Amino acid sequence: MADIIRCTRCILPVSLPSVRLDDNGVCNHCTTYERRFIAAQTVSTDRISIFEELLNNAKKRHRTYDCLIPLSGGKDSTYSLYVCAKLYGMRCLAVTFDNGYLSEHALTNINHAVNISGADHIHYKVNRPTMLKLYKTFLEHCGSFCPACMRGIGSAIESAKKYDIPLIISGTGARVAYLAMIPELYQGGDPRFFKNVLKGSELVTSVDQLSGSDSLYNFEKLMGIALRTLGLPIKTKHQQIGIYDYFEPDLINVYEIIQKEMGWTKPDGNAEHMDCLVQSVANYIQTLKFPELTPKTIYNSGQVRFGRMSREAALEVEDDNLRNTDAPAMLDTFLREINMDKKVFYNSTNDWRKLDSYRNKKLDSIRRIYRKIARN
Ligand SMILES: [Zn+2]
Repeated sequence: MADIIRCTRCILPVSLPSVRLDDNGVCNHCTTYERRFIAAQTVSTDRISIFEELLNNAKKRHRTYDCLIPLSGGKDSTYSLYVCAKLYGMRCLAVTFDNGYLSEHALTNINHAVNISGADHIHYKVNRPTMLKLYKTFLEHCGSFCPACMRGIGSAIESAKKYDIPLIISGTGARVAYLAMIPELYQGGDPRFFKNVLKGSELVTSVDQLSGSDSLYNFEKLMGIALRTLGLPIKTKHQQIGIYDYFEPDLINVYEIIQKEMGWTKPDGNAEHMDCLVQSVANYIQTLKFPELTPKTIYNSGQVRFGRMSREAALEVEDDNLRNTDAPAMLDTFLREINMDKKVFYNSTNDWRKLDSYRNKKLDSIRRIYRKIARN
């Protein structure tokens, strides 16, 4: 596997369209990380104080709930609920989007976390046959089924808007959002994207509940972008933040805390994505689009960047995984359940550009301009 050209600092292969190497062979994701999170920390502000101020402001609003926690049963969302409910005594509403492939293990962890934290909980599940049709349609059109689930998560969060909850705190953060920075692989729950994919499909009317309040979504996003660009404090009605933008994403510590305090138990195998039973299929699709990618490439490149893993150790994992790129055991079950022929599956998942063709170019270009301004 030595012939794969990679970033000399992390392990990202240059065959990914968004990866560009500088003269030293270091990729743009590494240099961006360095500028945003390493260099920025030398003029560090106290991130926990900023977080506490956000919580205090939310409490002062005196709503039914102080904050909303999207809860998947994974370690990060459980940690987020722990910090808010147990550490800071916030009144929390947890929301779970059940995509039809939530593991028993995740459900057990969700129950423990909810019972222990004292949070109220909405378990939102779209009718399973409808969800399976959505996965099939998304695979056929854009070669990826995850965006349908991402819209479900977005929709579950929006459903809580009737409580007018000021703060949404998810188990993520800019430093650990490994996939979100790779646009050729990842698409979030943007309602416009969702509608673009389903345009002309008979499914549109049966998934109206997932379509989202498009204008409100974009208005709030654009307001946030505009305020940040002007350097004004952001005071939008519903602020969405990631826990790891304020707390250290210290894995060992996080595992210890949630096991001790939230009744969380570690599943066998890969703890990163144990909540979703078809994660292996999603990973396999990425390898079909980019044969130099393994299920660990993106995550481990982040771990190397963090200094938690040596580049050599990450490369060893890559070599092992690249030797075995067989279809995962779950693929046959998944294809049978969504009623898709294997040939159609392979034809649908061979070109990453399909994903890009459904994006809302206008909003994306505004985001790009914002990022450029924010960098300077
Ligand atoms: Zn790199």
